[in-house]
Amino acid sequence: MPQLKSFGNLSLENKTIAVIGGGVTGLILGLAALRDGYRVDVFERSDSITDVGAGISFDINAAKVFESLGLGDVIDRISYRSKTSTYRTHDTNKLKLFLDYSNTSGKVMCLRAEFVREVAGLLPKDQLHLGKKFESLQQHHKLVTIRFKDGSSYAADLVIGADESTPVFSHQVMYRDVLNLSKVTDLDPELLNSTIIPAPGDKHVVLFPLKKGTLLAVAAIIRIDHDEGWEESWL
Ligand SMILES: Cc1cc2nc3c(=O)[nH]c(=O)nc-3n(C[C@H](O)[C@H](O)[C@H](O)COP(=O)(O)OP(=O)(O)OC[C@H]3O[C@@H](n4cnc5c(N)ncnc54)[C@H](O)[C@@H]3O)c2cc1C
Repeated sequence: MPQLKSFGNLSLENKTIAVIGGGVTGLILGLAALRDGYRVDVFERSDSITDVGAGISFDINAAKVFESLGLGDVIDRISYRSKTSTYRTHDTNKLKLFLDYSNTSGKVMCLRAEFVREVAGLLPKDQLHLGKKFESLQQHHKLVTIRFKDGSSYAADLVIGADESTPVFSHQVMYRDVLNLSKVTDLDPELLNSTIIPAPGDKHVVLFPLKKGTLLAVAAIIRIDHDEGWEESWL
């Protein structure tokens, strides 16, 4: 991955970077900045890098970025790499779309919590700050001061938001689980692809293997047409 030497007109030489949010984006950004030799601090509102989440699937471009950051071994250890994606009709099981990634190292599919924990473990402990809920920021001359809910503050040259604030309900509701395949005999080999089964009424089912094919992520996504009682959240 090319080294980030400037951000707009700002040269990043000897600059400090603060990243708000310790999810996938914030941690990967932190790791990339660290690998490029910058002083970077990641601030996450949760008190721990949470175990919450089921399967997550990263497309081939994200996989390339992870590999360029030296995460290839981690990926091989904890994930499943799929060389194809298929879309099938819900009623006749007919193939609607086939995507072939055989000339790449494949899509990466893993348990979100495990991936996030592994990447967090590659950041120096004193540069990943937990329990730091961002509240506001203020620019003073060339530095930006960030203020947190606990009353503390931090000044950096560059602040990057990776907090995925999505306060508006997307109307998509996902029911998800992870199934243990180790006792399943007669497994349809196609389940070891990434499969999407669209159904009428904005519904679809997503299936993809995890953990070297020993687990299967299953997500059923439906559309809810009203807002009452719903708010946007992964929890
Ligand atoms: C708990 C959780 C579980 C998830 N589970 C799944 C899953 O099972 N399958 C799947 O495909 N995707 C899941 N996702 C979503 C998926 O990880 C993201 O959509 C995608 O990776 C985008 O990553 P992101 O880093 O941009 O955002 P996120 O992964 O949403 O990360 C944003 C981070 O910013 C932190 N944050 C938010 N506000 C503040 C603030 N004010 N101050 C400091 N920190 C803040 C959040 O706590 C979070 O850790 C989950 C996300 C979360 C947060």
